[in-house]
Amino acid sequence: MSYKEKLIEVQEAINLAAAEVKRNTRDISLVAVSKTQPIEKIEKLISLGHRIFGENRVQEAKTKWKPLKSKYDGLELHLIGALQTNKVKEAVALFDVIETVDRPKLAAALSKEMSEQAVEIPCYIQVNTGEERQKAGIYPEETADFVDYCKNELSLNILGLMCIPPANETPALHFALLAGIAEETNLENLSMGMSSDYEVAIKLGATHIRLGTALFGARDI
Ligand SMILES: *Cc1c(COP(=O)(O)O)cnc(C)c1O
Repeated sequence: MSYKEKLIEVQEAINLAAAEVKRNTRDISLVAVSKTQPIEKIEKLISLGHRIFGENRVQEAKTKWKPLKSKYDGLELHLIGALQTNKVKEAVALFDVIETVDRPKLAAALSKEMSEQAVEIPCYIQVNTGEERQKAGIYPEETADFVDYCKNELSLNILGLMCIPPANETPALHFALLAGIAEETNLENLSMGMSSDYEVAIKLGATHIRLGTALFGARDI
């Protein structure tokens, strides 16, 4: 299948899932996850008009997206992977949205760096909905306080919440949990749903779905 056919296929699935719950497709953004993909493949999607992409590693993203951003207008690059505090400076300089604010120390470092660079990069709080010990993210019951801290003490622009459900559990429960926390905390955006479960995520309120495999095919690494 060509990239054009894949994009159309995914867009049709998005439309169908949105229609089932009477949501407007315009409220759902497709983040094309281009981690591990070479520039040539990414450019195929850009040339078809796609503009929103996600990367999970700062170094890799910098190598690929500094040249792409100087070549194309209107790109919106999301950081969807763990961010170490020693990479905050580079991340703030490169990304347009940071989806993985997952601890107070990182939030504080981001706030400080944004002041220094005089920019405001919108952020999402990553919630560890499965309370998995090895996984990043704020625990559900601590999220409201953390959102409050980020907004009021650090003046971060928090757009919404993001989650990656546990691999071996029904994602719907986690999407519903995230949607509930967003409602409690008055946040409008929900980044949830990947290639295997984005239709469910849309039905439960996702505003941003993050798709790699469905657009680029299986990753080799
Ligand atoms: C890799 C990745 C995705 C995309 O996963 P696919 O299953 O290939 O669609 C989405 N979100 C995050 C955080 C990822 O790391």
